[in-house]
Amino acid sequence: MIFITKLVLSPVTFGGYRQPLRKANGMRNGGHKYDYNPIETDVVIVGAGAAGLRAAIELAREGVDVLVLGKRRHGDAHTVWAAGGINASLGNLDSDDRWEIHAADTIGEGHFVNDPRAVEILAREAPDRILELRDWGCPFSLTEDGELNQRYFGAQSFRRTCFAGDMTGEAILGTLVAKAKEEGVSYLEDVYVTKLLKSGGRVNGAAGFDMQSGRRLLFGARAVVLAAGGYTSIYRRGSSRPDENNGDAMALAYEAGAALKDMEFVQFHPTGMIEPEGMDGRLVTEAVRGEGGRLYNSEGERFMERYSPKHMELDARDVVARANYREIREGRGTPDGAVLLDISHCDPDYIKDRLPNMYEQFVEQGVDITEKPMKVSPTAHYGMGGIEVDPRTCATAVEGLFAVGESTAGVHGANRLGGNSLAETVVFGKILGSHLADVLDDDLLPPVPLDEGAVQEHFAALDVLAAGTGGGERDPGELIDELRDLVWVHAGIVRTDDGLREGIVKLRDLKERAGELAISDASPSRRFEHVLNLRAMLTAAEAVMRGALAREESRGAHHREDFPEEADGWQKNILCARDEGGDMYLWTEPVGEVPAEIRKALDEDYSLDYHYLE
Ligand SMILES: Cc1cc2nc3c(=O)[nH]c(=O)nc-3n(C[C@H](O)[C@H](O)[C@H](O)COP(=O)(O)OP(=O)(O)OC[C@H]3O[C@@H](n4cnc5c(N)ncnc54)[C@H](O)[C@@H]3O)c2cc1C
Repeated sequence: MIFITKLVLSPVTFGGYRQPLRKANGMRNGGHKYDYNPIETDVVIVGAGAAGLRAAIELAREGVDVLVLGKRRHGDAHTVWAAGGINASLGNLDSDDRWEIHAADTIGEGHFVNDPRAVEILAREAPDRILELRDWGCPFSLTEDGELNQRYFGAQSFRRTCFAGDMTGEAILGTLVAKAKEEGVSYLEDVYVTKLLKSGGRVNGAAGFDMQSGRRLLFGARAVVLAAGGYTSIYRRGSSRPDENNGDAMALAYEAGAALKDMEFVQFHPTGMIEPEGMDGRLVTEAVRGEGGRLYNSEGERFMERYSPKHMELDARDVVARANYREIREGRGTPDGAVLLDISHCDPDYIKDRLPNMYEQFVEQGVDITEKPMKVSPTAHYGMGGIEVDPRTCATAVEGLFAVGESTAGVHGANRLGGNSLAETVVFGKILGSHLADVLDDDLLPPVPLDEGAVQEHFAALDVLAAGTGGGERDPGELIDELRDLVWVHAGIVRTDDGLREGIVKLRDLKERAGELAISDASPSRRFEHVLNLRAMLTAAEAVMRGALAREESRGAHHREDFPEEADGWQKNILCARDEGGDMYLWTEPVGEVPAEIRKALDEDYSLDYHYLE
């Protein structure tokens, strides 16, 4: 056992501001090349996006020592790519809007498998969290009266999406970084967490390595929070940045014994770029269709007339994504696998004024969208599934382990309303921080020593991987590509029983080959990171495929060609966890009762006039 004592660590080693981190009295492990010096703090947060930072701020304000870890430079998390906005029923432009209608829109779009408790909390608390962000200096766009401006967003009954130009995520993360600094939150950059540590069934630390030096790192804590993002990078084409959203949070939680929920629900955005390499999957904003963009196949047909004559290109994301997919699959796409999104019938000045970023994004690739159509194809955009938590506390079923943000399931059900995930990060970040601070204050999670055996075993396994003694030489990047293709084909936009079963068999084979990987490349190296990414992706992919196979219906973003209708009997959640033999098992749970106030708003049946979609 490693006993944690309190030493002050040199402040130059860490990013951080006020609170000194404590370094434990390390043990030299007989002859082993690492000295296991745990860095000790009250709470370790894995993830420095909006969710992790909002939780950290709340903890620090309550006097809890907290350390935030991220894989990139502090202030650079996936959150910065969120452009469109963040939802709150402030009613600044549409005074009839209320939290109940926000909740009803969320549950309606989630096809009634959301956790109603989570939805109620989100809708009730989003206004306060957004006003708080404004008070902390977030540069939201304002109306002429100085109120927070709000825009229409898909499937929402009113204008409730606050925004900071088209850089909302960046503005929010910048605000949270500054606030965290003010509150004295400590952080470490370029850290890859590879394992959660447990003693006696309780999570009490994490292990990983410094991505710059390769140095192994060990953290001891009274509680660990997973705020490590989503899992859409398991798809060949996705809107995430490279090397992010690999499902690290899900894999870490799953290995620690927590349950994953509704992983089969993956939102595909209808329009992603298909070229050049590196931009593949990059979003082509919904605003192009909102401003009048039309979809054509290679035969020049405006095919949405067949799929959705009423709403055309402005139907829900899943409907348009499936239409695009089918056109391409049935041979009516371009030779390189796209449909055409055309806005060139609009005035060039209007296009440049209303869609400046899109104009630039394509001009950089040599395409002037005022003259030519864009080649687009669906792209995996958001995983609604994730770690199961109690939304009132953000606790998992594993003692000492909490989760928040895109890493978790519950709020979005079978499909997500755009603008709800940023709201989720700050609403539940605050809830997690307040609750965990109370737990620690009540001394319900006293410090317990780390399990030295488990630490040694894990670091030894990393060494084996790096030393290349695991078997044949193989490039993990190739296996990642293979996995992404496999998930895209077998568990993509349209799924079938046969296709999923075949995919699961192929995944098993891939997993075996991944287990034999010998990379002969010590950390830090890209290959070393890739092999770890691959391991996380394999877990996330298995959960998606098994959930998709089990769910014999179509609901929201999950579409089964062999079960094309929504089935009442399937209005339930699918969970999975690891059994003692290390295999994944699944079970279902009923969805909770929708509270009367939200039910009433659902019955009132508010809906958006599609022509208002931005
Ligand atoms: C292109 C795009 C546009 C979007 N636009 C919107 C929008 O307009 N409105 C909206 O509401 N939502 C939007 N979203 C979704 C939204 O951006 C995310 O859901 C949200 O920002 C997630 O925040 P997070 O804090 O949970 O995770 P992230 O911001 O993804 O942060 C995850 C953190 O975990 C760290 N991490 C991951 N794995 C490890 C590990 N193993 N060890 C250590 N650290 C680790 C990462 O380095 C990072 O710091 C968009 C998403 C995309 C892809």
